[in-house]
Amino acid sequence: MRIILLAAPGAGKGTQAEKLSEHFGIPTISTGSILRRNIQEGTELGKLAKKYIDGGNLIPDEVMIQVMQDRLSQPDCEKGFILDGFPRTLPQAEALSASDIDVDVVLNLEVPEEKIIERLSGRVECSKCGATYHIVHNKPEKDGVCDKCGGGLVTRVDDQPETIKSRLDIYHTQTEPLLAYYQEKQMLRTVEGKEEIAETTAAVLNALED
Ligand code: AMP
Repeated sequence: MRIILLAAPGAGKGTQAEKLSEHFGIPTISTGSILRRNIQEGTELGKLAKKYIDGGNLIPDEVMIQVMQDRLSQPDCEKGFILDGFPRTLPQAEALSASDIDVDVVLNLEVPEEKIIERLSGRVECSKCGATYHIVHNKPEKDGVCDKCGGGLVTRVDDQPETIKSRLDIYHTQTEPLLAYYQEKQMLRTVEGKEEIAETTAAVLNALED
């Protein structure tokens, strides 16, 4: 199964990607996590990415396309994958379509904007393994500590209110056109992102079975 998850930042895409990954036994490829890991490790990619991410801007298409071509050619992607955060622009989608990687389905997770803002402002992330939590809706067992690896939980720099606004603007102008692009290709399925994570996962799995 090769799945693209499309959604506005903060719509719960990362959480659903993790659930699908467990369900199907295939890896989640999260561009945001790849970039943040590179920033932590101080690689050339990380240095370049940091400038864009901290300002709430997108990394240039040619860089992202190369990063993903390399990642998707790794052996763990042979059985399938879930793309979380790629493609995010039309040139990225076109590059993926032109490659020899066939995607089965594009899932659009729809969440009202006021919900998104509430979710992003309460989101915390493990500084070690990248797992995400919410201080109200998806609390870790112990405050400030990751359930999975014991790492410290932090608010992402790009989850500050002014950066959230810029990321949402970019989503509307650059990523939303992908809905029509994949609709045209008859690959798009839209699912409403519900209040409860488990409810959304059930709706997503249902949409994938249709
Ligand atoms: P995410 O964790 O998916 O919200 O990504 C965090 C940030 O990484 C985004 O706000 C962008 O700055 C950058 N980023 C992630 N994926 C992409 C992509 N496909 N194209 C360009 N920039 C990206």
